[in-house]
Amino acid sequence: MSPITLSIGGFTPFTTLDYPDHLAAIIFCQGCVWRCHYCHNPHLLDWQAPTTYTWEQIDQFLQRRRQLLEAVVFSGGEPTLQKGLIDAVQRVRELGFRVGLHTAGIYPHRLSELLPYLHWVGLDIKAPFTQYEKITGVAGSDKHPLESVKRLIASGLPYEVRTTLLPYFLTEQDLLELAESLAKLGVQHYVLQNCRVEHALDPSLRKLTGSQPVIGETLLEQIRAWIPHTVVR
Ligand code: SF4
Repeated sequence: MSPITLSIGGFTPFTTLDYPDHLAAIIFCQGCVWRCHYCHNPHLLDWQAPTTYTWEQIDQFLQRRRQLLEAVVFSGGEPTLQKGLIDAVQRVRELGFRVGLHTAGIYPHRLSELLPYLHWVGLDIKAPFTQYEKITGVAGSDKHPLESVKRLIASGLPYEVRTTLLPYFLTEQDLLELAESLAKLGVQHYVLQNCRVEHALDPSLRKLTGSQPVIGETLLEQIRAWIPHTVVR
C-alpha cells in the first residue's frame, strides 16, 4: 500500500460524544474552503498550515488501541477536501475499527466514493438551502450539501443530519423551512446543536457565551412534526 497522505491538524484519542454509542478517537483533518461564522476550529481552516501529527503517529496509536477503542471518526476542517482520506479510511477499517465521518457535504462526489467504507456519517446542514451563504460566507454553497443529503439517504448508511443553532442568523421560520426540506429529502434522524461560540471564527459571536437561546418546546414540536426523531444536543 502506498503511504497515506493526510494533513492532520488535531487528534483526540478518546471520546464518547462523537460516534453514537461507541468509544472513538477523532482525527481532525486540516483545511476547509468555507468560513462559517461559528466555526469553532478556525485553526483547521488553512489547508496549508503546518500540522502537528503525521499519519504514521496516528497509525501506531491506533494499532496499540485495537482492543480499547471501537471507532475512529474523521472530522475537521472538512475531511473530504483531502484526496488521501479514502486511503486513511480504508486503513482504519483494516485495523478493525468502525469508521465515522463528520462532513459538511462540500464534496458529494468524494462522499459517494467514501460511503462504501464508512459505518456512520454526521452531515452538517447549516441553513435552509436558499440561505447557505449567510452562514458559510460562500456564494452557491448550498448545491453540494443538498446533493450530499440525497446521496447519503440513498446509501442506506446510518447517519445523523445536524444543524447548529446560531443566534441571530437562523430564525424559527428558517428552522421550520429547513426541517420541511430535510423531511421531504427523506431525513429521519435530525440533531439540533447548540452553538459553541467561545472560539468562533467570527469574533462578534464570542461575546454571546452563556446568552444563547435554547430552542423552545413549541418550535421543537413543530420540527418534530416534520422529522419525529429530532433531538437537541
Ligand atoms: S464549520 Fe465546518 S464547514 Fe464551516 S468553516 Fe468550519 S470546518 Fe468549514
